[in-house]
Amino acid sequence: MTQETLLYTLPGTRDLLPDELARWQFIEQAAREIFHRYGFREIRTPLIEATDLFARSIGQETDIVGKEMYTFRDQSGKSITLRPEATASVVRAYAQHTMYRGSGTTKLYYLGPMFRHEKKQKGRWRQFYQIGAEVLGCGHPAVEVETIEMVISLLEMFEVKVQLLVNSVGCSRCRPPYIELLRADLRRLSPHLCEDCRRRSEANALRVLDCKVEACQPHIEQLPRITDHLCEECRLHFDRFRKHLTLAAIPFEITPRLVRGLDYYVRTAFEIVSVDLGAQNALVGGGRYDGLSEVLGGPPVSGFGFAMGLDRLVMLLPDQLSARWAEATDLFLAHLGEQAFERALGLARTLRREGFRCNLDFAGGSLKSQLRLANRLNARHVLIIGEDELASGSYLLKDLSDSSQRQLGATEIIQHLRGLQAHPHRSPSDEGV
Ligand code: AMP
Repeated sequence: MTQETLLYTLPGTRDLLPDELARWQFIEQAAREIFHRYGFREIRTPLIEATDLFARSIGQETDIVGKEMYTFRDQSGKSITLRPEATASVVRAYAQHTMYRGSGTTKLYYLGPMFRHEKKQKGRWRQFYQIGAEVLGCGHPAVEVETIEMVISLLEMFEVKVQLLVNSVGCSRCRPPYIELLRADLRRLSPHLCEDCRRRSEANALRVLDCKVEACQPHIEQLPRITDHLCEECRLHFDRFRKHLTLAAIPFEITPRLVRGLDYYVRTAFEIVSVDLGAQNALVGGGRYDGLSEVLGGPPVSGFGFAMGLDRLVMLLPDQLSARWAEATDLFLAHLGEQAFERALGLARTLRREGFRCNLDFAGGSLKSQLRLANRLNARHVLIIGEDELASGSYLLKDLSDSSQRQLGATEIIQHLRGLQAHPHRSPSDEGV
């Protein structure tokens, strides 16, 4: 009996193969390095959480909770969800482990897969990857700007052209009266709006501002703007936020339609979009969520953070940047004969202990076939070990980047390679990050 093939991945998921992963690792490594500079430390939370964590924090009226979560009952009958985002998990962990004790401000970052049952669309995956950061315990607008500066400097490293969009979504004092105004207008406009907008007008009026349906746009443009209805405190916060953006020399555009449609979001909301991507151009989304910890049963804590989509960023990364990172082999050791093979193994061991990336061909074979492998591995150098080299202990080191070659002993090889480490050709740390 022939069996159905299992050689496929589920829709919206894919394997990331070694060649492609060079780009991912380049971004991840650079992100870690920059985030550490700004005082963020990594946190890892489970991929599965109680369904209520997301239902309560993200909100029943959102697409995520309403239709996109991977939710199932486990063997004990408990409702479990694969995380569709990580902010709720990070805030849960922060409150659960009383991380607020002792330190005023806690800066955390995470990276990993998220799961949403999305409709099929270019640039949208069902398992996708985010890097995000959260600042807990600090309500100052300057920390918002510092965090935005951090993510922009990361994107600049990748030579990605971006635009920062900002808005204020008010607070529990000024938002309800604004939403009443919005609802009144939406009722009047209702015959001209799409079905989603009509439904949202009552359930979650702010989300109408997010609508992408062409025919709705002229009507939505006429709706009152939340920035014209902020309370004194929110207005002051937004003024100070913009002042700090200007002090940090970060260009921005105020986008009154940019809202996070969830109740606990307050004040600052922002998005970073790519100038080079099409419809799915949002790379980073974030904002302030001072109420979230309490919603989950924790203490009142200020929160601000963002999530950056890796899948899209990877598509934008210039080839030459990741190609440099993909040069994964510092030195390839070609060997001719059994004794030379043993010497190559010993030398590789020494060089690896010194921190260099080495490889060699276990099948041996002709020099030509070994050099072909060196090429495939993107080796920067090739060391050739033959009978003469075995006897003299001095080896021919070829630099494939400029075809230069030199005759060196083992210690000199280490010194030479170390000297080159300052040369910007390989890792994000070499890139002047
Ligand atoms: P969100 O958590 O919805 O605010 O999304 C933050 C960022 O994650 C977006 O700007 C995208 O870059 C990315 N993102 C969200 N959903 C997906 C998806 N289904 N596939 C790929 N990237 C996504």
